[in-house]
Formats: sequence, structure tokens, C-alpha cells
Amino acid sequence: MFHLKKKYKNFLLNPKPVLDLMLSKNSKDITMNCPLPKAVVCLDPLGKRKLPCVIGEKADCSKCGCIIPFFIESVIKRKQIKSLYSTKKGFT
Ligand code: SF4
Repeated sequence: MFHLKKKYKNFLLNPKPVLDLMLSKNSKDITMNCPLPKAVVCLDPLGKRKLPCVIGEKADCSKCGCIIPFFIESVIKRKQIKSLYSTKKGFT
């Protein structure tokens, strides 16, 4: 994964700290205590809140591939500044 980031640089949005969190050896700690439900409000088409996230009650956090929990963990919880700049560039 890191060799692809090295080769394609910013074409791959995820900064290295986020990619590192997404590795199998690290990801379970984050997805099994996902920060997303406390940081984001997801709604269904009728405006009713969906929990734990946009996937709804059938979400299987053990198989999650969503990048948002990893960005939240990196930027807000771990205050990894490189991820903050990347988030600003990618989402604004
Ligand atoms: S499915 Fe993914 S994004 Fe949704 S609550 Fe679980 S870990 Fe978080």
C-alpha cells in the first residue's frame, strides 16, 4: 500500500498516517470502537437517524472499509497534522 502512495503521491488522498491506521494489524482497534457515531449524524431519506453509521443497523464493523473512521481517529483523536492538511485538501 505504501509503495502505491509513494508512486502515485497525492493522487491517493489518504495520507500515510491514515493508511497506517487502516492496516489489518491496526484497523480493528478503530473499527470496533468506531468514532463515527459520535462525530457524524447519518440520516435516512425520511430524516430519521441511522445508527451506527450510514450503513444502518446491519453494519458489520469487523469488515468495515470506510475511510472516515480512520480520518476521524487520525485528525481528531491523534491530532496527526499531516492528516488534517490532507483532509482539508480532499474534502474542501
Ligand atoms: S461500519 Fe464502519 S463506519 Fe460504520 S460504525 Fe462500523 S466501523 Fe464505523
